[in-house]
Parts: sequence; structure tokens; C-alpha cells
Amino acid sequence: MNAPESIIWIRQHVIDPEVCIRCNTCEETCPVDAITHDSRNYVVNADICNACMACISPCPTGSIDHWRTVSKKAAYSLQDQFGWDELPPQQEIPDDALAASAQETAAAEGALEGLQVNAATSPSSTMAPWSAAHPYVNLYTLKNPVTATVAGNYRLTGPDTQNDIHHIVLDFGTQFFPVLEGQSIGVIPPGVDANGKPHYLRMYSVASPREGERDGYNNLALTVKRVLEDHQGQAVRGVGSNYLCDLQKGDSVQIAGPFGTDYLMPNQPGSNILMICTGTGSAPMRAMTEHRRRLMAKGQSKGGKLMLFFGARRPEELPYFGPLLKLPPAFIDMHLAFSRVEGQPRAYVQDRIREAGRSVTDLLGGDTYIYICGLKGMETGVMEALRESCSAVGMDWPALHGKMVREGRFHVETY
Ligand SMILES: Cc1cc2nc3c(=O)[nH]c(=O)nc-3n(C[C@H](O)[C@H](O)[C@H](O)COP(=O)(O)OP(=O)(O)OC[C@H]3O[C@@H](n4cnc5c(N)ncnc54)[C@H](O)[C@@H]3O)c2cc1C
Ligand code: SF4
Ligand code: SF4
Repeated sequence: MNAPESIIWIRQHVIDPEVCIRCNTCEETCPVDAITHDSRNYVVNADICNACMACISPCPTGSIDHWRTVSKKAAYSLQDQFGWDELPPQQEIPDDALAASAQETAAAEGALEGLQVNAATSPSSTMAPWSAAHPYVNLYTLKNPVTATVAGNYRLTGPDTQNDIHHIVLDFGTQFFPVLEGQSIGVIPPGVDANGKPHYLRMYSVASPREGERDGYNNLALTVKRVLEDHQGQAVRGVGSNYLCDLQKGDSVQIAGPFGTDYLMPNQPGSNILMICTGTGSAPMRAMTEHRRRLMAKGQSKGGKLMLFFGARRPEELPYFGPLLKLPPAFIDMHLAFSRVEGQPRAYVQDRIREAGRSVTDLLGGDTYIYICGLKGMETGVMEALRESCSAVGMDWPALHGKMVREGRFHVETY
């Protein structure tokens, strides 16, 4: 007679469909292609996932970090997960399964340690600068959002421009909603999608400093581009961005978050910040610049240089162009790049980085933190320009990049 087959327990990696913003970051990150998606859900293939944890830190919402102990035979299939509107509860499990689960956790943590050692190969830091302030995250969720009131909404880009970018101020009144420069919030658009399901969260970077858009007020600003074309140039009406850009003063908005634990600014005296952005990628740069500007205005400046490379099609399409020009060069070393100005050659941020040459590499030699933000793909040209600039003065960019990644000094956020 055959012995009864023993049950193998696994810790199955699952994604919370209620919080996931479908940003594709985890799918791009997973080294073994265990993550896939359909038109609605991002899911993990239990047969492939080896719990290496590479996808955990890059996920902007934390929705990736969920696990269910299940018998291997009864693991949730991809089809099961595609059908989820929320995570299934953890089933009751026997004690021996818990022991197996603990062993897998230890194995996964071991894999994570290995990853940290190998972080030089990662393009972006997964840890915050050592002197960053403590961020609060996930205080509010899709199921338990906070209501903010629109305190202002105006167009930043010129009326004759194709790009409609708005500056939107949200007020939280007496409710606890602390944010740091570099964090994001989740906006919950009202209504349902084409399948009759509630819309998922849309993420927006906070464009104001920790003290509030208006110093001392419990409010924050967003920089939102109205999406009227998809990435392929096809006409589309983006749900979240159009909802936000159409809001009127006094309207209520449901918010989740804050999110983000690593794209944070350094606070130690003398730390330099090198910012490279395009379009709405300027939001976190505005927040960091404004925090330092206010410290300076209050006589509390801790020194350290600010350098900004900012690209847009035309000056009229560059958010915050007017206020930026008023900042003194002694406070911020600014390099603007325009790619569609009549009669002028097309210039991109990477061209300006190359032109700036020594002033960039001198900064890289010091206590400097790099922040890149904008459309997906922009980091390729930026990395090449940094490599070339370093190579021209005998600096080894790949080695420096790896060091900066490990030290929480190289941060990329593209969408
Ligand atoms: C961490 C993080 C921070 C972000 N910060 C900001 C920010 O500060 N300001 C901001 O405006 N956006 C920001 N975004 C992007 C934002 O979350 C939304 O993706 C964007 O507003 C489009 O959402 P939507 O609901 O309008 O479009 P959807 O209805 O979700 O999409 C409609 C179509 O447009 C395409 N699409 C999505 N985004 C864009 C885009 N940016 N350009 C062109 N096509 C697009 C989609 O692929 C889809 O085909 C951020 C995203 C992340 C992950
Ligand atoms: S834990 Fe590792 S293998 Fe599993 S989905 Fe995440 S990146 Fe892929
Ligand atoms: S929010 Fe997290 S789980 Fe969802 S697609 Fe983005 S990285 Fe993946």
C-alpha cells in the first residue's frame, strides 16, 4: 500500500488588487518573469516566483508585499488571481505549515540580503538617504480613504500649448496627513470602470514641502498633466488626470497614502542635491527646492548645493517656469532644455548634462544625492550623459553609480 502523500506548504506571493495602481514596475523588475497582468490585475505565478524579494522595494504602494500560506496543490492559479477584487483571507493552517512558512521566510530574507549586496547592478536606490526624515506611509487606503478639499486648481502651462498641466492644492483640515518631499499620494477617482468595478488608485507626487504648500497649513500641492493621448499617441481620456484637472475649488477628493519610503531628500548639513526631470517630474524637485528655499529664508540653511536639469518642449510648457527663473543662481544652478523652440536646435536634459561637464562631475565627487523623475525611458539618456561626463574627467561612473545606489543616493521615479 502506498504511504499517504504529504502536503507541501508554500508561502504564495500575491498582489493586493485594491491598492495596486497597475504601474508595471514589479513586472519590469522581476528577474524570472513571475509577474504578469491582464486588463485589470497584476498577478504572481506561484510556479515561477522564488521569493527573491526584488520586486518588494520598487513597488510604490506596498501592494506587492502580501503572502498566503497555502498547500502547493491548492495554490491560487493565475486565473484565480485575475478574478480577484480583493485579496482572499488567510485560511486556517496547521502548525507544521507555519513552521514551513517560517523556513521560507528565512530563505526569502537570505535572498534579500544577497540582493542588497548586489545592489550595484540595480539602477535605483531601494533605501532612503541616511539622514532622511521618517516617512509615514499607508495611513489611508482605498477602503479607508481620507477626504481632502480642493483649495486651488490652476493651469500652469500656457493657454496655446498642447500640454495642459495643473497645479492643484488639496487641504486636509484637521486630519493627520503628513508628507515628505518625494512621497506620493493615491487619488481615488469616483465612479466605476468599463467592467463596472471601482477605479483603482492613481499616484501623484507631492509638489510641496513638508511644511505644506502654504507654510504652516495642512495642505499639499500636486502637478498633474491632463492625459488626452496614450503613450502611443492615440486619443484617450485618462480617468484620474482629467478628474483632477477638472476639479473646482471646494470639491472633495478621496485620497489614500502617503506612499514612498526611499525617494526622500537628505537632511544632513552640506548635502548636495542633483535633480534631473521632465514635465510633471518636476513635482518632487519643486518640493525639495522649496523646502531648502524656506530653510534659507528662515536663516536655517544647512548649506549644500542644488543643481537642476529640467526639460520641456517649450518654455510655455515647463511647469513653474516663472517662479523658477526668480530663484537666485547662488541658491540653485539651473539648466533648462527645450526640444521644440522654433529656430533653435532640439535640446534634452542629457545634452545640458554633457554641456555642464565639470560642474556636474565636481558635484558627483562630493556628498551628492541624485533624483531623476519624469516619463519612463528618460533615465537611459541621462545615464549615458553621466557616464560620458565622468569618463571625460577620469571618473568611473558605473562604480560610482553602484556606490550611490547602495548608499541611498541615486533615486529614479519614472511613469
Ligand atoms: C509614483 C508615481 C508618481 C506619479 N506622479 C505623477 C505626477 O506628479 N503628475 C502626473 O501627472 N502623473 C503622475 N503619475 C502618473 C499618474 O499616476 C497617472 O498614471 C496618470 O495621471 C495617468 O492616469 P489617468 O487615470 O489619467 O490615465 P489612465 O486612464 O490610467 O490611462 C489612460 C491611457 O493613457 C496612458 N497613460 C497613462 N499615463 C500617461 C502619461 N503620463 N502620459 C501619456 N499617456 C499615459 C495609459 O497607458 C492608458 O493607455 C505618477 C505615477 C506614479 C507611479
Ligand atoms: S519575489 Fe522575486 S521572483 Fe517573486 S515575483 Fe517578486 S521579483 Fe519575481
Ligand atoms: S503598484 Fe506594486 S504591485 Fe501594483 S503594478 Fe505597481 S509595482 Fe506591481
